[in-house]
Amino acid sequence: MIIMKSIRHNSYAVEYVLKLKLDINDRQLSGSSRVTVVSYSGKPAGTLRFILNHGLKPLDVRGELISKWRWYRGSIGGLRELFVNVIEITYDKRSENDNRIEITIDFEGSIRDYSSVFPYVKDCIGEYTLIRTDAYSYPVFLANNDLSFHNLVSSVISQRFKYRIEVAAPRDYVVANVGKLVGHKVREDYKVYVYISKVPSWRMDIAVAKFRVLEEKQDDLRIFYLPEDKEYAERILYTLKNCLKYYEELFGKPARWNGYTIIELPETWGSQADYTGMLLERKGFTDSHHAGIYHELAHLWNAQSAEHPPSRFLDEGFASYFQLLAERRFIGDKWFKERLRNAREKIRELAKKTPKLLEVPLADYGKYYLTDASYLVGVLLLYVLNRLTGDQCFYKAIRRFLEKHYETPATLESFKEAFVEICGDRIRSFLEEWFYTTKPVELIIEKDIDEIIELYKSRLYESLQ
Ligand SMILES: [Zn+2]
Repeated sequence: MIIMKSIRHNSYAVEYVLKLKLDINDRQLSGSSRVTVVSYSGKPAGTLRFILNHGLKPLDVRGELISKWRWYRGSIGGLRELFVNVIEITYDKRSENDNRIEITIDFEGSIRDYSSVFPYVKDCIGEYTLIRTDAYSYPVFLANNDLSFHNLVSSVISQRFKYRIEVAAPRDYVVANVGKLVGHKVREDYKVYVYISKVPSWRMDIAVAKFRVLEEKQDDLRIFYLPEDKEYAERILYTLKNCLKYYEELFGKPARWNGYTIIELPETWGSQADYTGMLLERKGFTDSHHAGIYHELAHLWNAQSAEHPPSRFLDEGFASYFQLLAERRFIGDKWFKERLRNAREKIRELAKKTPKLLEVPLADYGKYYLTDASYLVGVLLLYVLNRLTGDQCFYKAIRRFLEKHYETPATLESFKEAFVEICGDRIRSFLEEWFYTTKPVELIIEKDIDEIIELYKSRLYESLQ
């Protein structure tokens, strides 16, 4: 899930203070959002834009030095039916003191879903209310001024903001968020929930339903579930605890642990992960295999990538392999082997569909939009590496790599160096071949996994002769 910056923008939203009052019977909300935007360009702020769900009407915009504002109905380029309300704020001069601007936007109305464009975006106000970035249900800052879909996505995923949300909902509803609950009070017919983000994120998710909550205070684990799904919630909490313990045994404590919250989402509403928790569709919630949880939790053991653009091996390759290790531990070896064979099969299919895969080495997957292959080739790379180095050496080298990159971003080179340091120089040529040549994909197509391992084992053996 962790997404790296793809374009450098001039300004970013760095903080949100969002206040919402929900009227569930009338399917309406009223809200106010104070956003802090930081400009890195040093140029005058000029015009800033926010977008908002087309069911939500901007009422007022306030802030120092704003000369005028207006809103209009726009559409995100290239995608029919993706209507949004665009808020345009104009500045004639910029603040003398620093590059921070505070803007308060008041709005009200309903949330319209975008399921005709994105089938999973069924967000609405109702028995299950969902307020998230995907439906622009709060003012989403547009880092660049163009309304293309590409710019919108890149602008959303490259921001990291902290937030404080204050949501008033009718008393029989519970407000769920992956942040820290810092306030909870009753005001007339409403209950007000106050959450603050645990770490800066690129998204805010607020779910409001008649949730029940299951907690494990010691590890700061929390499950928000719908009343009929208690049995599943208990299993999920159990899975979360065990998986966490297992990864810690193998790879040590995650670099930054901030607890974990899972919020049950209705079927087909689109699971999504944040740094401190996830929205999990009912299907994944009730599924007995929990592969999605193993995967998302594994992302806590990622080093940030310094690759330009990222190959996604260091995040998705890693998480996909850790996920399989958890599946082996909790489901069984037969299943694990089946999953490996499946990964190999998918690479063969992908190579047929996208012949470019045979010409581009893993290190360049980012450059050629082949990062989907990192989930699969990454798994096989790590599995073969694991078999060649043995469990103890493999786990130790991963720990070493993560320790080295606690503060500084990582590259494929630094991954290689960590393995060479712990497992010896003999592993260098294997990693160079898998990162920088297309030989591995050819091998995967020609040979089964055990044959590949035997081939490299005999090479390693020869190199020792
Ligand atoms: Zn992932």
